[in-house]
Amino acid sequence: MIKVPEGIPITRPKIGSAGNTGLWRVEKPEIHYDKCTKCRLCVLYCPENTIDLLENLFPKIDYDYCKGCGVCAQVCPTKAIEMVREVK
Ligand code: SF4
Ligand code: SF4
Repeated sequence: MIKVPEGIPITRPKIGSAGNTGLWRVEKPEIHYDKCTKCRLCVLYCPENTIDLLENLFPKIDYDYCKGCGVCAQVCPTKAIEMVREVK
C-alpha cells in the first residue's frame, strides 16, 4: 500500500458495533485490472474509503469494510469494476 505522508488528514474505516460492514453485503465489486487505467476515480468516490492504492498504483478494495454500494462501478470510466453476487 501507498504510505500517506505525515500530517495529511485522512479517515480510515473501522469495525462498527455490528462488526465489519462486509458481513451483510449482497454484491461485491471485482476489479478487472486489464481494463483499469489507474485513474483513481473509484478511490475518490468510494463513500466508505475502502479502496486503497497498491505500490503499482492499481486500486485495491478492502472487503472487510466495502458495503457493496456499487458507486465505484458506476464511476469507473472504463467499466473495469464489476458488481458480482456474493455467495455466502
Ligand atoms: S462497492 Fe461501495 S463501498 Fe465497496 S468499494 Fe465500491 S464504492 Fe466502496
Ligand atoms: S475508476 Fe476504474 S479505471 Fe479508474 S482506477 Fe478505479 S478501477 Fe481503475
